[in-house]
Amino acid sequence: MKYVETMNLARFERGIPLSTYTTFRIGGPAFALIKARSTDEVIEAAWKAEGQGLPWQVIGHGSNLLVSDDGFDGAVIVFRDETPPRIHDDGTVTVSGGFSLRSFVDFMAANGLGGLENLAGIPGTVGGAIYGNAGAYGVSISEKLISTVLLDRTGGMRRVDPDKLMFSYRSSALKSSGEVVLEARFSADSADPAALNKTITERLSDRQRKHPDPSLVPTAGSYFKNPSSHEGGRIPAGRLIEDAGCGQMHVGGAHLWHSHANIIVTDGSARARDVKELAAEMASRVEDRFGMKLTPEVVYLE
Ligand SMILES: Cc1cc2nc3c(=O)[nH]c(=O)nc-3n(C[C@H](O)[C@H](O)[C@H](O)COP(=O)(O)OP(=O)(O)OC[C@H]3O[C@@H](n4cnc5c(N)ncnc54)[C@H](O)[C@@H]3O)c2cc1C
Repeated sequence: MKYVETMNLARFERGIPLSTYTTFRIGGPAFALIKARSTDEVIEAAWKAEGQGLPWQVIGHGSNLLVSDDGFDGAVIVFRDETPPRIHDDGTVTVSGGFSLRSFVDFMAANGLGGLENLAGIPGTVGGAIYGNAGAYGVSISEKLISTVLLDRTGGMRRVDPDKLMFSYRSSALKSSGEVVLEARFSADSADPAALNKTITERLSDRQRKHPDPSLVPTAGSYFKNPSSHEGGRIPAGRLIEDAGCGQMHVGGAHLWHSHANIIVTDGSARARDVKELAAEMASRVEDRFGMKLTPEVVYLE
C-alpha cells in the first residue's frame, strides 16, 4: 500500500467495501473513497489523488462493474451529481457526467426533447453510458452527443467532439484514455412529450420482462458483448450461451438469469472470483461450440 499523506486526503473515507457501490454488490475495499456530487468535486478529488501519486478511478452507479474481491488499492471517486441539466436557446442540453441516465431520459421527455427515449431503463450515469457507448433498441448514446468536457489523467480539462472519441458498439476511446466525462452536451429532436413517454413506458415494460431488477437481484446486466456476424450484424451473445448449453450453470452463488442467458446474477453470496470463473466457462463453451470469442462488456476493476 502506498504511503499517503492523510491530511491531503482528509475527505476520503478508508476501507469502504466497493460492494456497496456496485449493482453486483461484489467487491473488496477501496484504499480511499470519496463521493463527488459536482464536477468541481471530481476535479478536486482527482487532483488530490494524483498529487499523492495514488491510482484513482471514477465510477458512477457501478452498474457495469465487477470489482475484485481484494478491492482497489487506490482512490475511488464515486461521481453522482444531481445538478439539473441545462437547456440552451438552440435546443441542445448540457448535463453532468454524474447525472443519472434514467433521470436524464425522463428530463428530455418531459421537455419534449426526443432521441434518447429508447435508452429508458438503462441504469447508471450519463458519464458511464458515454464511456461504454451504452445503448438499447438499436440506439446508442453517442448518436445525440455533440460535445464533452473531459478530465484527463493528469488533471487537465478539454472540450472534445464525439468524432474524437471513436465510438463503436459498446466502446469509446475513453476505455483506453481513462479520461473522465465531466459534462456532456446533447442535441435533440423536438417531439411530443406524450409520445416520448409512451415509448419510455413500452421500453420499461419490455425490460421488466427480460431483465432482473438490479435493486432486487445483484447483477451488472449483459456480461458479454454481442459478437459480430460474418454478415456485419450482431449475434445475441445470450443465444450463443444458451445454445452452448450453459443455461443451468452456476459457480458459488453466481448463475444465469432465467430469461436472458447473457445476464449473470447472484444470490448475494457470490464473490468476484465465482463470477469470473462462471464467465470464463461460458466463453469457453461458446468458443468450443461455435468458434466465437466472447468479450466482456462488464468492466473488471482491480
Ligand atoms: C439490469 C441492467 C440492465 C442494463 N442494460 C443495459 C443496456 O440495455 N444497454 C447498455 O449499454 N448497458 C446496460 N447495462 C449496463 C450499465 O447500466 C451501463 O453500462 C451504464 O451506462 C454504466 O453506467 P455507470 O454509471 O453505472 O458506470 P459504472 O458501472 O460505475 O462504471 C463503468 C465504467 O465506466 C467508467 N465511468 C463511469 N463514470 C464515468 C465518467 N463520468 N467518465 C468516464 N468514465 C466513467 C468507469 O470508470 C468504469 O470503467 C445494464 C446494467 C444492468 C444492471
